[in-house]
Amino acid sequence: MADQDCVFCDIVTGDGAASKVYEDEELLAVMDIRPVTTGHLLVIPKRHSIGLADLPEDTGAGMWRLGHRLAGALRRSTLRCEGVNFFLADGEPAGQEVWHVHLHVIPRFAGDGFRISADWRTPPRADIDAAAEAIRDVV
Ligand SMILES: [Zn+2]
Repeated sequence: MADQDCVFCDIVTGDGAASKVYEDEELLAVMDIRPVTTGHLLVIPKRHSIGLADLPEDTGAGMWRLGHRLAGALRRSTLRCEGVNFFLADGEPAGQEVWHVHLHVIPRFAGDGFRISADWRTPPRADIDAAAEAIRDVV
């Protein structure tokens, strides 16, 4: 089920180089080759999925479970890790650049330079309730 032009599928098949940290039947954890901080990991499902829409929920739960375990490992490691961010970009507007779903597990510490810029708004409660209804209808 590998995609021919996918760098993560190449890692899964062994055609692409990677610094592996963990592997089981379903998932792989490797070092990000463009780390935000030292220890930045990627959790990758072995079966090709582009994003959340074609990722089985159980696989997504497994990705989170492995990310949770890796976060603990980062904190126990000798690497500098005073906090952890998970980051998953689903779709181009969300910042997805590799079209095989992956969860970033990023060790954090004060002054590490990581930032997500956002315009945090404070809309009226009616707007928040309307958005909740739009989502509630299709969960
Ligand atoms: Zn792939």
